[in-house]
Amino acid sequence: MATMKAAVFHEHGERDVIQLEQVPIPQPAADEVRIKVIACALNWLDVGVRRGPQFGALPLPLITGVDVSGVIDEAGADVAGWRAGDSVTFYSLVTCGDCEYCRSGDLTVCPKHRIIGEHINGGLAEYVVVPARNLIAKPERLTHVEVAALPVVSMTAWHMLISIGRLQAGETVFIPGAGGGVASMGIQIAKHAGAAVIASTSTREKMARARELGADHVVNYREPDWVEQALDYTKGRGVDLAQDLVGAATWADSLRTLARNGRLVVCGSHSGKSFDLRIPQIYHRQLSILGANGGSYNELRNCLDLANQGALKPVIDRVLPLSKIREGHRILEERDHFGKVVIQVA
Ligand SMILES: [Zn+2]
Repeated sequence: MATMKAAVFHEHGERDVIQLEQVPIPQPAADEVRIKVIACALNWLDVGVRRGPQFGALPLPLITGVDVSGVIDEAGADVAGWRAGDSVTFYSLVTCGDCEYCRSGDLTVCPKHRIIGEHINGGLAEYVVVPARNLIAKPERLTHVEVAALPVVSMTAWHMLISIGRLQAGETVFIPGAGGGVASMGIQIAKHAGAAVIASTSTREKMARARELGADHVVNYREPDWVEQALDYTKGRGVDLAQDLVGAATWADSLRTLARNGRLVVCGSHSGKSFDLRIPQIYHRQLSILGANGGSYNELRNCLDLANQGALKPVIDRVLPLSKIREGHRILEERDHFGKVVIQVA
């Protein structure tokens, strides 16, 4: 049987559970394609899934890898519109297509959705098989490495700011943890929408990178009065929207930055899942806390079009070979990055 190289884990745990192994090359079903993976970016999801599932059990052994750019190697018998040799990326949610949410296009809340790279083997391997309906043509002007750096972070930032947060031109946004992949996209999307951006991060170098991406004002969260500095920038009024993926470490401060009628949009909790929330502060200042979950196929296509036009720039920290996959996980776990860590597979 033909085999391929893949980053596999057979049990949940620390980084050393990830093994480079030869595994059988997957075969596409009639409505699927097999992609030869050229680049696959890492996400916090890869780390979280490796450590252990949040909801229910996951199939093991598992290959993670959600953000792929590559070339179709084989198309199933019923696939129309795509063929071997096409350069593609894909939308990573496999939805049921039949529930009330799927029928209305609201794919992110399909109760039966599965994620390629979490519930289904992903792209940290030489080949990955995905449903043809999830495919999107690779933006022509970007390299495979640049394309792999975009899908999850761009659609998540778009979903948080534009679709759920209803960000308007002229509003002000606070984005904590600017070195994160979604945050670095959020700065660009908020600027594209005509908003002003205040970002927070931890080092002089990361502060400069956030300014380069368009942040109007950057604060260092290691300074004890950084919330006051952010509020000063808004002349004490506060921001209209905070885009927070950091979690318990920043939720309380993100709420403090909000103006009256402000919205805190949350998606992710890797610094902790709960904090001491005093409900009166929500109703006294008429705040909203809004949940966002991933992004839709159309949001992803829109972001990739913007990237192809140069309006959204992939933010790449570094590119590693598949053999350095554990190092990639370390970089994410120690927040030793600004933007994406991309694994070059071929
Ligand atoms: Zn559904």
